[in-house]
Amino acid sequence: MKLGPEMSAGEAFSAGLGLGIGLLMGQYLLRVTGPSAEVITKWVIICQKCAAGNSVDNKFCTNCGQSLYPPPKNKCQDCLSEMPVTMKFCGDCGRALKR
Ligand SMILES: [Zn+2]
Ligand SMILES: [Zn+2]
Repeated sequence: MKLGPEMSAGEAFSAGLGLGIGLLMGQYLLRVTGPSAEVITKWVIICQKCAAGNSVDNKFCTNCGQSLYPPPKNKCQDCLSEMPVTMKFCGDCGRALKR
């Protein structure tokens, strides 16, 4: 079994594997060998807490319950940079971010 980001996001999207959510941290293309020795390729999300592989349909880790998606983003009104909602000020321009 080989784990790793084997495709760039662009290649993945042009190959029809785009999921509409972009390439997330911890999301990998998993290549496993099926019952008849054919190679099955599928996307998995690796849990950042316990490293279990989860289906991309999962929102939470089926092994430990950790959320598999990063927190939602807040868009700076000045420079339109996207910052995690946990940030109080824009990392690009320093403007206070509204929640
Ligand atoms: Zn987990
Ligand atoms: Zn800004």
